[in-house]
Amino acid sequence: MNGKIMSELPFIPFALPQIGEEEIAEVADALRSGWVTTGPKTKQFETDFAAYLGGEVEAIAVNSATAGLHLALEALGVGPGDEVIVPTMTFTATAEVVRYLGADPIFVDCCPTTLNIDVEGIKQAISAKTKVIMPVHYGGLACDMDKILALAAEHGIKVLEDAAHAFPTRFDQQLIGTLDSDVAVFSFYANKTMTTGEGGMVVTKNQALAKRIKVMRLHGISRDAFDRFTSEKPAWYYEVVAPGFKYNMPDTAAAMGIHQLKRIDQFWQRREYLAKRYFEQLADLPLILPARADSSDVHSWHLYVIRLTEQAPCTRDELIEKLAEAKIGTSVHYVPLHRHPYWRDSYQLSPEQFPQADKAYLSMLSIPLYTKMTDEQQDHIIATLRQLLGK
Ligand SMILES: *Cc1c(COP(=O)(O)O)cnc(C)c1O
Repeated sequence: MNGKIMSELPFIPFALPQIGEEEIAEVADALRSGWVTTGPKTKQFETDFAAYLGGEVEAIAVNSATAGLHLALEALGVGPGDEVIVPTMTFTATAEVVRYLGADPIFVDCCPTTLNIDVEGIKQAISAKTKVIMPVHYGGLACDMDKILALAAEHGIKVLEDAAHAFPTRFDQQLIGTLDSDVAVFSFYANKTMTTGEGGMVVTKNQALAKRIKVMRLHGISRDAFDRFTSEKPAWYYEVVAPGFKYNMPDTAAAMGIHQLKRIDQFWQRREYLAKRYFEQLADLPLILPARADSSDVHSWHLYVIRLTEQAPCTRDELIEKLAEAKIGTSVHYVPLHRHPYWRDSYQLSPEQFPQADKAYLSMLSIPLYTKMTDEQQDHIIATLRQLLGK
């Protein structure tokens, strides 16, 4: 590969959202309407999202998945003295919301093939204080939810799915969001499988939980702003029933979500196609390629995480650097929580307690996989990896 040609190629970012004219027109419509906070577009987005999941769920739009996870744990009654089981192989948001409520996360290692939370590890982590298990469908591959739900039921523990990567992931044919867990929370952050810039969706079949989450989403007010201005009760009247949060989604964000949702199946087809090309063309390299979904499941392909084997001619850090020189953006998902100073020092965590996650972390990198990436860009990534890894 000739350096001159490479330098003429524009940089391939690690991730890019795909925003169409429909999103732009809908956002402009929200701006022109004068209703820029939570209003009719947010209502529509919630209705459309629930309908996509089959209509049997409540979908509650929030301004981030982090906010949604916080609301879900609050509604599940988590507080000081409680324990919540989380994977170490995740983004810090999964565990930080547990601390917001004064409870303690209990960290669990991952399965070495899927990198999802290890079910045996969950079993060992359960104590009399365990209130919730928070599985993360890592990269978009569903956790073994049959086992996790059975374990939770056996011990009377709630299940909150951090589904930030998992739209539209399926477990045993069923879309994440429709399983028998208590709540699932999706993220629409800029780099997720669909985006509202910032945003999230809390999904539950439990009416009581949904009611609490809706109240706490907006200052603990018993009706949201839209209802307040359209219902028959006097417009000025509202009641505060709890010290709630400011987590509502604005219509400017929901406007994007309405159209992103319409294209989610098309987005998924493209991701699936790109993932398949990586599998075919990286198969003979000294790499561990990501685990694939069982035939009854669907992988959302939020992330494509590769791991270098011991036969690789360079280290992970060197590979990331050389890919950057070839104008290819990469990332690492994740520096596991046990390695971050706050979690490490607060809970006396060490790499030896999480051998699988730690080993995976040291050899992993995430390579670009997003709908806007062209076949030619992917060809360049594949050719560069083949050259750098000696083929
Ligand atoms: C992105 C992400 C979140 C947080 O989502 P936001 O919408 O940015 O708050 C939570 N958990 C995981 C695993 C994530 O990847």
